[in-house]
Amino acid sequence: MPPIFLSSTYAQDSPGVHKGYEYTRSHNPTRYALERMVALLEGSTIPEETDPSRGGFACSSGMAATSLTLDLLDQGSRIVTGDDLYGGTHRLFNRVRERSQGLTVVPVDMTDLQRFEDSLTGDTALVWLETPTNPLLKVLDLESIVRITRAKAPGAIVACDNTFATPINQRPLDLGCDIVMHSATKYLNGHSDCIAGLLVTSRPELAERIRFIHNSAGPVLSPFDSYLVLRGIKTLDVRLERHNASAMRIAQWLEARDDIERVVYPGLPSHPQHEIAKKQMTGFGGMITIFVSGGIDRSRTMLERVNIFALAESLGGVESLVEHPAIMTHASVPPEKRAELGIDDNLVRLSIGIEDPEDLLADLEQALA
Ligand code: PLP
Repeated sequence: MPPIFLSSTYAQDSPGVHKGYEYTRSHNPTRYALERMVALLEGSTIPEETDPSRGGFACSSGMAATSLTLDLLDQGSRIVTGDDLYGGTHRLFNRVRERSQGLTVVPVDMTDLQRFEDSLTGDTALVWLETPTNPLLKVLDLESIVRITRAKAPGAIVACDNTFATPINQRPLDLGCDIVMHSATKYLNGHSDCIAGLLVTSRPELAERIRFIHNSAGPVLSPFDSYLVLRGIKTLDVRLERHNASAMRIAQWLEARDDIERVVYPGLPSHPQHEIAKKQMTGFGGMITIFVSGGIDRSRTMLERVNIFALAESLGGVESLVEHPAIMTHASVPPEKRAELGIDDNLVRLSIGIEDPEDLLADLEQALA
């Protein structure tokens, strides 16, 4: 097991002559071990001789990793984003960086490739997207998005938040994206016991720029939390196997009920982008979105009644969680924007854990009864 190197600083042989490690904000062996592991899982081709962490960068949270990406951009840059984003990402773009960095943020429904193309201008600096999206689980066609961006905005960085899919189910770098971002708090760690973020790039020049800002701005992950995520990743593959299988079973069960208005799960043939999901994903993930008949009152009752599912924000852990985006994770998205997007008051988001799926079905059955 990689040791946890808690040292903040490292003794030098002579002034300025260090032994590979100088100061933990700049380099740390435990953080490097995590960064290299995620870089390899995401398919980075940067060799260790070129970059010590092979293009992987661990940050103190998913939001810190997103901020680090924004720090690559100049003041006043124009960015095109998906319209359905984690609420905190929306808040960072629109309520922090528009003001502090003068960004122009252009949200667009990227399931409509023509609209996406129309939203791009030659000077667009960043395309930021999630797929599947949070919480509507839209699936975006990464290869087409990259192709259109290269043609219309050749200088733009394409960054994909791969939190929901994980590298087990989807590898955006293989599909042409420049940067993959993770809230490692979720599936990568998998045990709901630390907050962490990651960026991975396969482009050496981008890795060099990210490394400079990572060290300059300092949003680095602590050695202890690096160890926790590293340990979580050892079971990522087997966890995802169970998340994928249980979520599929539960989505089918929910879809067959007449007291659920609509079930959104990329693995269901009824999902509007099911064909794209089949093409670019090797599994459909553990997240399910449902619209409960009976509006906010019945949704609230269901959320209060669950026993095995915990009513809590976050996702991707071994334990199943359930939450109400309009009141919880996406409360920072303005109500009119939520209405426009379809984040309705009867929308409930389920994160299917690795418990026995029979127990989860029984819990949902009694909560909905
Ligand atoms: N991206 C997605 C898709 C998320 O769900 C979250 C958190 O819920 C984040 C980013 C932010 O990550 P963190 O909470 O680790 O800062």
